[in-house]
This record gives sequence, C-alpha cells and structure tokens, in this order.
Amino acid sequence: MPQLLQSHTTTLGEGMTIRRALPNRSRRMVGAWCFLDHLGPVATTGDGLRVGPHPHIGLQTFSWQIEGEVFHRDSLGSEQLIRPGQVNLMTAGRGIAHSEETPAEHGTTLHAAQLWIALPEAERRREPAFHHYPNLPVFDQDRWQISVLAGEFNGHSSPALVYSPLVGLELLAADAANTTLPLRADFEYGAMLLSGSATLAGQALEVGELLYFEPGATALEISTHAPARLLLLGGQPFSEEVLLWWNFVARTPAEIRQATTDWNAGNGFGEVHGYPGERLLAPEVPKLRGE
Ligand code: MN
Repeated sequence: MPQLLQSHTTTLGEGMTIRRALPNRSRRMVGAWCFLDHLGPVATTGDGLRVGPHPHIGLQTFSWQIEGEVFHRDSLGSEQLIRPGQVNLMTAGRGIAHSEETPAEHGTTLHAAQLWIALPEAERRREPAFHHYPNLPVFDQDRWQISVLAGEFNGHSSPALVYSPLVGLELLAADAANTTLPLRADFEYGAMLLSGSATLAGQALEVGELLYFEPGATALEISTHAPARLLLLGGQPFSEEVLLWWNFVARTPAEIRQATTDWNAGNGFGEVHGYPGERLLAPEVPKLRGE
C-alpha cells in the first residue's frame, strides 16, 4: 500500500503560505529529492515574493514555475526571470547565495513549486552553477499533458543537469482523464497534488497530500474526473544519510555549523548584487541529529 503523507503549512517571507511536503516526519526524501514546497496559487499583492539573499550548500534548488514570474539573482552574477513552464536549476555545490523576488512587471497570481535535490558525496563540493531551462519536453498521453521536468520518461528527456538517477514530472488534465504510467522498479516515487483532485493507484488524493510508493511498482494508474495538476517525483533511494538544516544539506553537524558561521560572517559565499533588501541571517543552530 502506498503511504499517504500530509504536508505542513509554513510561511515564506511575509505572509505567503506554502505547503511543505518534504522533508516529512515519516518520509525525509524521495530518491535524491529532499525538499518540496508548493507555493500558491496566491494573488500577487503588495511587494509579492521577497526572499532576500541566503546561502545553500550540498544541494540543487529546482524551481518549477506554474503561474506568475520570479526574478532570480545569485552570487555568480546570474540574473534570470522565470516564467510559467520553465525551470531554474541552481547547483549550490560547495556554496552559493541567491535571492528571489516578484519583478515589477508581473501577473496577478503566483503558483510554483520549489524542490531541492541532495547532491551525492562525489558531487556535493563541486563548483556552484546556475542553469535556466525555458523549454521542457511536453507530451500528451490519454488526455494527460505530461511535462518532463527532470530525468527521462517514455523516451522524453529533460535537459536539466542532475547528478543522481531521478525523475520529475508534472501531469496536467484539463478535464476527466485516466492513464497508466510505466514506473521503474528500482525507483521510489512520491506524487503531490497541486490543484484539483485525482485518484492514484486507487487512493484519492487532495491538495497538500503526498502519496509515497516504495520501489518495486512497475505501473501507476492516475485518474481524475475534473481538472487536476500534480507532481510525480521518483528516484533510486538515496543511500547516504543526509543532514538538512535551514538552507544547508550536509552530512555532519560540524559542516552545518561551519556553513552557518561562514554565511553570517560574510565569508565564502560571495555577494548577491542588486537585491532591494537585506540578506537573511541564519538563526542560531539548535542541537542537531548526531550531537
Ligand atoms: Mn533558496
């Protein structure tokens, strides 16, 4: 039986509610996917999204834009607007800093998913990088429109540069639809409903719920009676124990503490130029797992 998990709600910056499905108390990761935030749909009022400069290590941030626009700046000097149907992929590696904001010219609604991918041991200290993917493969199957955000599916490959075996799909139905997707038996999967309602493997799924499937399944039936949008994430179970705190993915508490000290002292992450606001300081590090 698949495992049904509830996301918890938290706020991003000032007053924007997000549903955080990963990490979850009973499920920390799906493959290398270690973080899943679903933002909106929400009216873009006031300043909109304002996330000041903050650091990352040991992960890739993977932004999937559904409605509205977000402007990205980072310490490599990248400046990139992301629009609906596009992906921003930032590889933090040994360390990067970035900011995200609603641009002056913007739509009335913001709707997006932000995911993190843990980097495996051999890659997690690599040089930071940023990539923007304006076009992802999209195909239709049984009245579902399927976008391949990461990895490969049904012969369609995403250009997104990732470092472990994984897949990320968006499935969109304009009305009633029913299909069966082939799954890889060596992958575990997680499906999160972003809007509407759908039934997966006989289990009804509501917005904010994540349905987890252990490795071994080779097919997944997905049906809906009305418009629906969902994310399907998959990957080989991540074999390394990761430690995730604030914006850092590491292996040991000492690494987390060093990154926190370095960022708060202004060392080692470079500068994000042009953001109209203050950088975010890391809070005091609590007692971490392994301490
Ligand atoms: Mn970030």
